[in-house]
Amino acid sequence: MSVQEVAIIGAGLSGLALALALHQQSIPCTVYEARDASLNIGGAVMLTPNALKVLDTLGVYNRVRPKGYECEFLYFRDDNDRPLDEFELGGQQKYGYKALRIHRHELITEMLSMIRERQIPIQYGKKFVKIASESDKEVVWESADGIKHRASFLVGADGIHSRVRQYLYPDLEPRFTHIVAITAELPTRQLKVPNNYPLPATIMNRRHGAFLISPQLADGSEVLIVRQKHEQELDRDGWNKLLADKAWCIDFLRSGKDDFPEIVRNAVADIQYDKVSMWPFYFVPKLETWVSRQCRVVILGDAAHAVPPSTAQGVNQAMEDIYTFARVLAVCGRREVAAIAPALKTWHHHRQERIDRLLELNVQINTRRMPKLSNHDDVKNKNFVEDKFELEWLYTVDLEKMVQNCLPNRSPNERLGNAENSILQSAPTAAMDYNDGVIFKKREGTTIHVGSEHFQFMKLLSECPYFEYFNRREVFEGRRIDDGKAVVMKLDFQYVTNLN
Ligand SMILES: Cc1cc2nc3c(=O)[nH]c(=O)nc-3n(C[C@H](O)[C@H](O)[C@H](O)COP(=O)(O)OP(=O)(O)OC[C@H]3O[C@@H](n4cnc5c(N)ncnc54)[C@H](O)[C@@H]3O)c2cc1C
Repeated sequence: MSVQEVAIIGAGLSGLALALALHQQSIPCTVYEARDASLNIGGAVMLTPNALKVLDTLGVYNRVRPKGYECEFLYFRDDNDRPLDEFELGGQQKYGYKALRIHRHELITEMLSMIRERQIPIQYGKKFVKIASESDKEVVWESADGIKHRASFLVGADGIHSRVRQYLYPDLEPRFTHIVAITAELPTRQLKVPNNYPLPATIMNRRHGAFLISPQLADGSEVLIVRQKHEQELDRDGWNKLLADKAWCIDFLRSGKDDFPEIVRNAVADIQYDKVSMWPFYFVPKLETWVSRQCRVVILGDAAHAVPPSTAQGVNQAMEDIYTFARVLAVCGRREVAAIAPALKTWHHHRQERIDRLLELNVQINTRRMPKLSNHDDVKNKNFVEDKFELEWLYTVDLEKMVQNCLPNRSPNERLGNAENSILQSAPTAAMDYNDGVIFKKREGTTIHVGSEHFQFMKLLSECPYFEYFNRREVFEGRRIDDGKAVVMKLDFQYVTNLN
């Protein structure tokens, strides 16, 4: 038995990409969207290599690439406009893709065309209201017009205020970060900088916070300027009033301008009211699960983990969700549908690990971008240069490995597969042997030094009753405890390349 039909709630970026991913895996699906058209909240998004690889696999990347602005770094500069630091956004050589900053509507339009070309059903004006029932075989759900629908799985890709999520967490509300971003679009020529001025750029000012300038059309002829500020939470009317107060927004963009370099003063010299926006940053608190008890209802994208936009990873993480989810469904569905439930639970676990790590990065970025709350004279003299962000884990994620790690029906030997061989070949003295649950039985005390993480193998070790492990990042460390001797092992899995 294969997966019969997936109902996707929401035709935003997550829902549309998921429809393409499921279709690619030959899984039938229908998209249901509450509005008359896909939600386009405006502006552009920065797509990084982790998501571009997914979009490439789906055939979207080549279609949208000419419509976006490509870049490799975000350049940090001081308040005298001197270079400070660089934040990697992508890189052809290192990550296979430059970052792509692209207007949201371009992505939506292109994905919709592809959905229509593939004749994937999409119903607008169809609002999900509630799950009527769920069994281990199907889910029945109700739309606002009172109609009941059946599907093998229902996926809530319905955004930060997800109605589907209410089925899993009836009382949960998104939380405010106490940060708002004020943005404005303007022509790049207004900046009056030479053509080789490095953009996108963040101009740092300890007192006033950061001022971000980011190109966003293919030819770089338009930029978005962004500043963030601390703000008390308001209700919906309050936010709408604040957003409508364009003079307030522009005043904030201009505040302290004389403490910034000329590029910033030029940027704020002429701001059109209709080009100004304000975004209060909300997030979804960490959820214990994204999968219902019977595993027929799943949430992903902003519905599951809306992260504050400081890392510019909301869409990017959603693309990781959709690729891995569609693959898990496809691989398990081809073997045995019953395998899907445990696989989805593991899928959530692996996805949550990435989101947790992203949130740590988010804190570091916000700390750097926000004005310092401490005394100006104290902070004025501090060195601007801070630690570099380490981003390889983010951009070089192996999603296919993540999928393999979710498959519960493979025997330990099957899961170990080539990993064991490749470690043995590349580090012959290690003498590893998986036999009756004893992983290291030949040369006690052998140490293999390494570098990167490998969840699949670590999971295997963690399941071994004789082995205790710790430190799941970077380097795996563990010790054998079956005979009372503590033999410290260090393993680096850089040699493990092909697990299939
Ligand atoms: C200012 C700003 C800048 C950002 N910049 C970036 C960036 O540079 N890079 C990045 O990766 N991310 C960025 N993000 C985050 C990104 O926009 C979100 O992560 C992304 O849009 C989430 O997509 P989604 O499809 O999950 O949700 P949404 O885009 O919210 O789509 C949800 C869809 O579900 C529909 N829906 C809702 N309820 C129902 C219902 N009951 N029934 C049927 N349909 C329903 C909605 O109408 C909507 O179409 C930014 C966000 C903001 C606010």
